[in-house]
Amino acid sequence: MAEILIDNVTKRFPDGTEAVSNVSLTIKDGEFFILVGPSGCGKSTLLNMIVGLEEITQGEIRVDGQVINTLDPKDRNMAMVFQSYAIYPHMTVRENMAFPLKLAKRPKEEITQKVNHAATILELTEFLDRKPASLSGGQRQRVAMGRAIVRQPQAFLLDEPLSNLDAKLRIQMRTELSRLQKRLGTTTIYVTHDQSEAMTLGDRVAILRQGKVQQVGTPRELYTTPRNLFVAGFIGSPAMNFLPAQLESEYLILPMAKFKLPAKLRDRLSNLQGSVIAGIRPEHFQDVALAGEDKETLPTFKATVDVIEWMGADVYAHFEIQGKINNRLQSLAKDLEVETTQDSAIRLVARLGASSQATEGDELEMQLDVHKLHLFDTQSGESLT
Ligand code: ATP
Repeated sequence: MAEILIDNVTKRFPDGTEAVSNVSLTIKDGEFFILVGPSGCGKSTLLNMIVGLEEITQGEIRVDGQVINTLDPKDRNMAMVFQSYAIYPHMTVRENMAFPLKLAKRPKEEITQKVNHAATILELTEFLDRKPASLSGGQRQRVAMGRAIVRQPQAFLLDEPLSNLDAKLRIQMRTELSRLQKRLGTTTIYVTHDQSEAMTLGDRVAILRQGKVQQVGTPRELYTTPRNLFVAGFIGSPAMNFLPAQLESEYLILPMAKFKLPAKLRDRLSNLQGSVIAGIRPEHFQDVALAGEDKETLPTFKATVDVIEWMGADVYAHFEIQGKINNRLQSLAKDLEVETTQDSAIRLVARLGASSQATEGDELEMQLDVHKLHLFDTQSGESLT
């Protein structure tokens, strides 16, 4: 059993950098919990405080009710796996996996039994007498996991463990890790800057930005109901499209379409008027030519495709519309390190079905699913929908 409670935790380094600010999170027993955010947002610092490699400036971390702030790392019964996986090149796989147990002076039979068991789970049995140099990247990563597993810790803390692997292996290892975690049922905190990794691995995900928690939720919640512009832009690939918009009585005016707001959305906005930022997921544009006949009437507009990305199951159509992105969107784009605009054109992307025959230069009639529209406050960036 290990429920990890992070209660109002702050980390201030001696030079004054506040890497983690008043973070509160509850990681449930057995949960696969992800900390995700851009580089420098404080993920590793938070993980290091949990495992005891970094002192806590303020706040408390409790494991099953017990405050562990000043507990020595070796007494925390947590196993950490790093990006560089730190396995010893001169030791065999068996010796590498046995190492933490030898260090803990466990009896020989117990070590043998635990190493064999972990090797079976990780499908490493046939490699036990090999040295790491003769293993693939994925196998080495499994050895690092094996070293963590043999200790039977109450929690696994993983810091970007897959980032040294090539793209294909990384995706394969995600599934393996996910299965392994379910099988072991051990509370796991996993740090990554990769939103797609976060979305595919985690039971729940916390998004950090500049040391602060932006939102905590299941991947689905974060995708469908982002709390603010940052979360909306960070989660999802291709990213959500952002547009300047105006609310005028019961209408929403976008640079390329004006339409009556659906009643549900109108109610939620409770007579809000004026400038807002609209967010549209790429899949909420549709090529009218491909829409089924029974499709209800949604606002349409014409757009000329300038780039097509063919992905097999999807086709991404990039196009530009006239309009100027406001300062708020400019700074968001900078924050998310995405390029969204030229001088007087707004770049958008639509995810069209595999049956799309669109090619560069085509003028498409696009439909916009207004029921799925997100609106954000221009000042605070908070979601209004
Ligand atoms: P990355 O994904 O790049 O590893 P991260 O989200 O894990 O980033 P941290 O390594 O936790 O971020 O760093 C958070 C902030 O704290 C950064 O601004 C970093 O420069 C700063 N920082 C980290 N260690 C120290 C230190 N020892 N002294 C001062 N500032 C530090």
